[in-house]
Amino acid sequence: VAVELVVLGASGSYGAPRGGACSGYLVRAGRARLWVDTGNGTLAELHRHLDPEDIDAVVVSHEHPDHCADLLGFQVLLKWKARRSGMAVYAPAGVRERLAAVVDDFEETFDWRTVDDGDRAEVGDARLRFARTDHPVPTLAVEVAAEGRRLVYTADTGPKWSVAAFEPAADLVLSEASYQDASAGAPLHLTARQAGEAARAARARRLVITHVWPPLDPEVSVWEAAEGFGAPVELARPGALFTL
Ligand SMILES: [Zn+2]
Repeated sequence: VAVELVVLGASGSYGAPRGGACSGYLVRAGRARLWVDTGNGTLAELHRHLDPEDIDAVVVSHEHPDHCADLLGFQVLLKWKARRSGMAVYAPAGVRERLAAVVDDFEETFDWRTVDDGDRAEVGDARLRFARTDHPVPTLAVEVAAEGRRLVYTADTGPKWSVAAFEPAADLVLSEASYQDASAGAPLHLTARQAGEAARAARARRLVITHVWPPLDPEVSVWEAAEGFGAPVELARPGALFTL
Protein backbone atom coordinates (compact mmCIF):
# COMPACT_ATOMS: atom_id res chain seq x y z
CA VAL A 1 0.00 0.00 0.00
CA ALA A 2 1.47 3.34 -1.08
CA VAL A 3 -1.02 5.69 0.52
CA GLU A 4 -3.52 4.94 3.28
CA LEU A 5 -6.31 7.25 4.46
CA VAL A 6 -7.92 6.76 7.87
CA VAL A 7 -10.94 8.91 8.75
CA LEU A 8 -10.64 10.33 12.26
CA GLY A 9 -13.71 12.53 11.94
CA ALA A 10 -15.96 13.63 9.10
CA SER A 11 -18.72 15.70 10.67
CA GLY A 12 -19.42 18.93 8.85
CA SER A 13 -18.74 22.03 10.94
CA TYR A 14 -19.63 20.56 14.36
CA GLY A 15 -19.30 17.16 15.98
CA ALA A 16 -22.36 14.90 15.72
CA PRO A 17 -23.13 11.18 16.03
CA ARG A 18 -22.95 10.13 12.38
CA GLY A 19 -19.81 11.97 11.30
CA GLY A 20 -18.22 11.78 14.75
CA ALA A 21 -15.45 14.29 15.31
CA CYS A 22 -14.93 17.23 12.97
CA SER A 23 -12.52 17.10 10.03
CA GLY A 24 -9.38 15.05 10.56
CA TYR A 25 -7.52 12.31 8.71
CA LEU A 26 -4.50 10.14 9.32
CA VAL A 27 -2.63 9.72 6.03
CA ARG A 28 0.20 7.24 5.74
CA ALA A 29 2.18 7.90 2.57
CA GLY A 30 5.18 5.66 2.07
CA ARG A 31 6.66 5.66 5.55
CA ALA A 32 5.45 9.18 6.37
CA ARG A 33 2.62 9.64 8.86
CA LEU A 34 0.63 12.83 8.38
CA TRP A 35 -2.22 14.23 10.43
CA VAL A 36 -4.29 16.17 7.91
CA ASP A 37 -6.70 18.59 9.56
CA THR A 38 -6.93 18.63 13.32
CA GLY A 39 -10.60 19.41 13.86
CA ASN A 40 -12.17 19.20 17.30
CA GLY A 41 -12.40 15.62 18.52
CA THR A 42 -9.77 14.19 16.18
CA LEU A 43 -6.87 13.96 18.65
CA ALA A 44 -8.81 11.43 20.73
CA GLU A 45 -9.50 9.38 17.58
CA LEU A 46 -5.88 9.59 16.47
CA HIS A 47 -4.83 7.64 19.58
CA ARG A 48 -6.82 4.64 18.32
CA HIS A 49 -4.51 4.31 15.31
CA LEU A 50 -1.02 5.24 16.49
CA ASP A 51 0.90 7.03 19.20
CA PRO A 52 0.35 10.69 18.28
CA GLU A 53 4.01 11.31 19.09
CA ASP A 54 4.84 9.29 15.97
CA ILE A 55 3.23 11.80 13.60
CA ASP A 56 5.88 13.17 11.21
CA ALA A 57 4.05 16.36 10.22
CA VAL A 58 0.69 18.07 10.51
CA VAL A 59 -1.21 19.66 7.64
CA VAL A 60 -3.98 22.13 8.48
CA SER A 61 -6.22 23.35 5.67
CA HIS A 62 -7.50 26.54 7.31
CA GLU A 63 -8.18 28.40 10.51
CA HIS A 64 -11.83 27.43 11.06
CA PRO A 65 -11.93 25.57 14.41
CA ASP A 66 -13.55 22.44 12.96
CA HIS A 67 -10.32 21.98 10.98
CA CYS A 68 -7.64 23.07 13.46
CA ALA A 69 -8.88 23.16 17.09
CA ASP A 70 -7.11 19.99 18.25
CA LEU A 71 -3.70 21.49 17.54
CA LEU A 72 -4.25 22.99 21.00
CA GLY A 73 -4.36 19.61 22.74
CA PHE A 74 -1.56 18.30 20.54
CA GLN A 75 0.63 21.17 21.72
CA VAL A 76 0.07 20.13 25.33
CA LEU A 77 0.79 16.46 24.52
CA LEU A 78 4.02 17.30 22.70
CA LYS A 79 5.28 19.83 25.20
CA TRP A 80 4.42 18.15 28.50
CA LYS A 81 4.14 14.43 27.73
CA ALA A 82 6.52 13.86 24.83
CA ARG A 83 8.84 16.79 25.68
CA ARG A 84 9.25 17.35 21.98
CA SER A 85 9.80 20.49 19.97
CA GLY A 86 9.84 21.33 16.28
CA MET A 87 6.78 19.40 15.03
CA ALA A 88 6.30 20.56 11.42
CA VAL A 89 2.92 22.17 10.81
CA TYR A 90 2.05 23.08 7.22
CA ALA A 91 -0.77 25.62 7.20
CA PRO A 92 -1.94 28.69 5.31
CA ALA A 93 -1.67 32.17 6.76
CA GLY A 94 -4.11 32.74 9.60
CA VAL A 95 -3.98 29.41 11.45
CA ARG A 96 -1.06 30.27 13.70
CA GLU A 97 -2.43 33.73 14.46
CA ARG A 98 -5.91 32.41 15.24
CA LEU A 99 -4.66 29.73 17.66
CA ALA A 100 -2.07 31.99 19.26
CA ALA A 101 -4.92 33.87 20.90
CA VAL A 102 -5.59 30.92 23.23
CA VAL A 103 -2.10 29.44 23.72
CA ASP A 104 0.65 30.95 25.87
CA ASP A 105 3.50 29.89 23.65
CA PHE A 106 3.69 27.20 21.02
CA GLU A 107 6.60 28.55 19.04
CA GLU A 108 9.02 25.88 20.26
CA THR A 109 6.57 23.02 20.02
CA PHE A 110 5.56 23.69 16.43
CA ASP A 111 7.75 24.44 13.45
CA TRP A 112 5.26 26.54 11.48
CA ARG A 113 5.61 26.31 7.72
CA THR A 114 3.26 28.75 6.05
CA VAL A 115 2.16 27.48 2.65
CA ASP A 116 0.17 29.03 -0.17
CA ASP A 117 -1.29 28.25 -3.57
CA GLY A 118 1.08 26.17 -5.70
CA ASP A 119 3.54 25.43 -2.91
CA ARG A 120 5.11 22.00 -2.60
CA ALA A 121 6.70 20.20 0.32
CA GLU A 122 8.22 16.83 1.13
CA VAL A 123 7.79 14.85 4.33
CA GLY A 124 9.87 11.69 4.08
CA ASP A 125 8.47 9.71 1.14
CA ALA A 126 5.38 11.91 0.86
CA ARG A 127 5.19 14.74 -1.65
CA LEU A 128 2.66 17.45 -0.86
CA ARG A 129 1.18 20.07 -3.15
CA PHE A 130 -1.20 22.83 -2.11
CA ALA A 131 -3.94 24.76 -3.93
CA ARG A 132 -6.00 27.69 -2.67
CA THR A 133 -9.72 26.91 -2.62
CA ASP A 134 -12.87 29.06 -2.72
CA HIS A 135 -13.53 29.71 0.98
CA PRO A 136 -13.76 32.96 2.99
CA VAL A 137 -10.43 32.53 4.81
CA PRO A 138 -7.15 31.33 3.24
CA THR A 139 -7.84 27.61 2.69
CA LEU A 140 -5.64 25.02 1.04
CA ALA A 141 -6.56 21.77 -0.62
CA VAL A 142 -3.70 19.28 -0.49
CA GLU A 143 -2.44 16.48 -2.70
CA VAL A 144 -0.44 13.74 -0.99
CA ALA A 145 1.59 11.54 -3.34
CA ALA A 146 3.84 8.56 -2.65
CA GLU A 147 5.07 5.65 -4.74
CA GLY A 148 3.05 6.77 -7.75
CA ARG A 149 -0.29 7.06 -5.93
CA ARG A 150 -2.10 10.32 -5.32
CA LEU A 151 -4.72 11.40 -2.81
CA VAL A 152 -6.38 14.81 -3.13
CA TYR A 153 -8.27 16.37 -0.22
CA THR A 154 -10.38 19.38 -1.19
CA ALA A 155 -10.62 20.80 2.36
CA ASP A 156 -13.50 23.32 2.43
CA THR A 157 -14.43 25.00 -0.82
CA GLY A 158 -17.22 26.69 -2.67
CA PRO A 159 -18.00 25.90 -6.32
CA LYS A 160 -15.55 28.44 -7.78
CA TRP A 161 -12.64 26.06 -7.16
CA SER A 162 -12.31 22.47 -8.33
CA VAL A 163 -10.05 19.45 -7.83
CA ALA A 164 -9.12 19.93 -11.50
CA ALA A 165 -6.56 22.41 -10.12
CA PHE A 166 -4.41 19.32 -9.53
CA GLU A 167 -3.22 16.83 -12.15
CA PRO A 168 -6.15 14.80 -13.47
CA ALA A 169 -6.90 11.19 -12.52
CA ALA A 170 -6.01 11.19 -8.84
CA ASP A 171 -6.38 7.73 -7.34
CA LEU A 172 -8.75 9.05 -4.68
CA VAL A 173 -10.44 12.41 -4.19
CA LEU A 174 -11.68 13.14 -0.67
CA SER A 175 -14.16 15.93 -1.25
CA GLU A 176 -16.18 18.08 0.99
CA ALA A 177 -19.91 17.74 0.22
CA SER A 178 -21.62 19.85 2.84
CA TYR A 179 -24.96 20.40 1.16
CA GLN A 180 -27.60 18.61 -0.89
CA ASP A 181 -29.65 19.78 -3.88
CA ALA A 182 -32.59 20.70 -1.66
CA SER A 183 -30.50 22.32 1.04
CA ALA A 184 -27.80 24.33 -0.71
CA GLY A 185 -26.59 27.10 1.58
CA ALA A 186 -24.14 29.96 1.21
CA PRO A 187 -21.72 29.22 -1.66
CA LEU A 188 -18.72 28.59 0.58
CA HIS A 189 -19.28 24.84 0.46
CA LEU A 190 -20.22 22.29 -2.21
CA THR A 191 -23.36 20.30 -2.70
CA ALA A 192 -22.78 16.57 -3.02
CA ARG A 193 -23.69 16.80 -6.71
CA GLN A 194 -21.12 19.56 -7.29
CA ALA A 195 -18.52 17.43 -5.51
CA GLY A 196 -19.36 14.53 -7.83
CA GLU A 197 -19.30 16.64 -10.99
CA ALA A 198 -15.96 18.24 -10.10
CA ALA A 199 -14.37 14.87 -9.35
CA ARG A 200 -15.72 13.51 -12.64
CA ALA A 201 -14.29 16.49 -14.58
CA ALA A 202 -10.94 15.84 -12.89
CA ARG A 203 -11.22 12.13 -13.88
CA ALA A 204 -10.85 10.99 -10.27
CA ARG A 205 -10.61 7.20 -10.05
CA ARG A 206 -12.47 7.11 -6.74
CA LEU A 207 -14.53 9.65 -4.79
CA VAL A 208 -15.12 9.73 -1.04
CA ILE A 209 -17.34 12.50 0.33
CA THR A 210 -16.99 14.12 3.74
CA HIS A 211 -18.01 17.18 5.79
CA VAL A 212 -21.76 16.48 5.33
CA TRP A 213 -23.85 18.98 7.30
CA PRO A 214 -24.99 16.91 10.33
CA PRO A 215 -28.79 17.29 10.01
CA LEU A 216 -28.70 15.85 6.48
CA ASP A 217 -29.07 12.16 5.67
CA PRO A 218 -25.64 11.14 4.32
CA GLU A 219 -27.15 8.37 2.20
CA VAL A 220 -28.90 11.07 0.14
CA SER A 221 -25.57 12.89 -0.17
CA VAL A 222 -23.90 9.70 -1.43
CA TRP A 223 -26.68 9.20 -3.98
CA GLU A 224 -26.52 12.78 -5.27
CA ALA A 225 -22.72 12.72 -5.41
CA ALA A 226 -22.82 9.43 -7.34
CA GLU A 227 -25.18 10.98 -9.90
CA GLY A 228 -22.74 13.85 -10.41
CA PHE A 229 -19.72 11.52 -10.49
CA GLY A 230 -21.33 8.96 -12.78
CA ALA A 231 -20.03 6.08 -10.64
CA PRO A 232 -20.42 4.79 -7.09
CA VAL A 233 -19.25 7.11 -4.31
CA GLU A 234 -18.16 6.26 -0.77
CA LEU A 235 -18.85 8.09 2.47
CA ALA A 236 -16.15 9.04 4.97
CA ARG A 237 -17.18 7.54 8.31
CA PRO A 238 -15.17 7.63 11.54
CA GLY A 239 -12.65 4.80 11.51
CA ALA A 240 -13.00 4.08 7.79
CA LEU A 241 -9.82 3.03 6.01
CA PHE A 242 -9.10 3.62 2.32
CA THR A 243 -5.98 2.21 0.66
CA LEU A 244 -4.40 3.40 -2.58
ZN1 LIG B 1 -14.23 26.26 6.82
